[in-house]
Amino acid sequence: MAKLSIQDLTVEGKRILMRVDFNVPLKDSDDGSQRIITDDTRIRAALHSIEYLIKNGGQVILMSHLGRPNGERQAKFSLQPVAERLGELLGAPVAFADDCIGDAATTAVAQLKNGQVLLLENVRYHNEETANNPDFAAKLAAHGDIFVNDAFGTAHRAHTSTAGVTAFIDTCAMGFLVERELKYLQDELREPKRPFVVIMGGAKVSDKIEVITALLDKADSFIIGGGMAYTFRKAQGYTIGKSICENNKLELALNILKQAEEKNTQFLLPADNLQADAFGENANVKYTDVYSGGTGGIDDEWEGLDIGPAAIEEFSEVIATAGTIIWNGPMGVFEIDKFSKGTQAIAAAMAQSDAVTIIGGGDSVTAVNKYGLADRMTFISTGGGASLELLEGKTLPGIASLSDK
Ligand code: AMP
Repeated sequence: MAKLSIQDLTVEGKRILMRVDFNVPLKDSDDGSQRIITDDTRIRAALHSIEYLIKNGGQVILMSHLGRPNGERQAKFSLQPVAERLGELLGAPVAFADDCIGDAATTAVAQLKNGQVLLLENVRYHNEETANNPDFAAKLAAHGDIFVNDAFGTAHRAHTSTAGVTAFIDTCAMGFLVERELKYLQDELREPKRPFVVIMGGAKVSDKIEVITALLDKADSFIIGGGMAYTFRKAQGYTIGKSICENNKLELALNILKQAEEKNTQFLLPADNLQADAFGENANVKYTDVYSGGTGGIDDEWEGLDIGPAAIEEFSEVIATAGTIIWNGPMGVFEIDKFSKGTQAIAAAMAQSDAVTIIGGGDSVTAVNKYGLADRMTFISTGGGASLELLEGKTLPGIASLSDK
């Protein structure tokens, strides 16, 4: 059943306890006196919901985790710099409570007026957060009349602030960000515009196997790149040199290839690869022959680190005629320029296509940002693990526990 949305709520004069994902990257300032936010994408991603609640007269109480302080107060994991950055983005001050429960929090909540915003300190300063502890949940829930979850990135975790609190608040809704993630990673894929093309890359088959299996029936084409392709190639009997490979997944890889054939799903492995004699910008590189009938493959002591020109051409053709494309995982070690051509070409082909283009989280997001193509995609997920679990067809605890419409 559909979940209650932030738009279904009457928020004026109400205390809205909202879980956001403010787990931003930080570094020390040059003089070491401050923590600096190096990427505020996650803060910006929550602005839509926060601004909506402010405009409609809600009292907004935000909670989030930051890093892994493992139940201890540690200054480097404080959300204080986030309160300041959020205030700048909103153009209005954001109050900060230096604990998420107890007197500091209760007093700050009581002082909030309609349209004002308060950020509570890192919920993971308490071990009870990840333990999904009912007493801790009751204390957090006491801050709000209504709960909103807009933290898609942690929606796959059954933690206190993502799921536990919902047992103590009657009205629990999803925010705009979560709603959009569900629209593209779930609803849109129920009846995708065809051909539906799934592009999977990244290091390991084992991380993506459940997504591949879940989408085998639904997709018209799979494009496989990155390190995971070598497990398939080795399973087919090709040489892979020192390329990354999961030797305990060879049988599984063959089984996937067989299933794809039975289901008449196109399953494309890279037709060729870029191989290197070292892992770095100074490596010597060359292309493999096109894999065919036992020839092709990586030389001894060399390592496959990107897809080759024949693969780029074939993949780009499939992308050009797609109706819906979902992409998770780079085609090679794109962090190193020498091995980034394949990933860049796939990002460019997606940007040029008329398809619904969905970037399904993780390193593909980094890649499209790096190549300046983010605003040419239909949707970019903010989740990593959460996106994959949704694509696997799993129920996410942080969404399942919200009120039905
Ligand atoms: P994932 O988080 O599973 O999407 O994996 C992303 C990582 O896979 C990136 O850091 C890439 O550098 C890495 N990767 C992609 N292709 C290869 C490859 N051929 N060999 C080793 N690592 C790779």
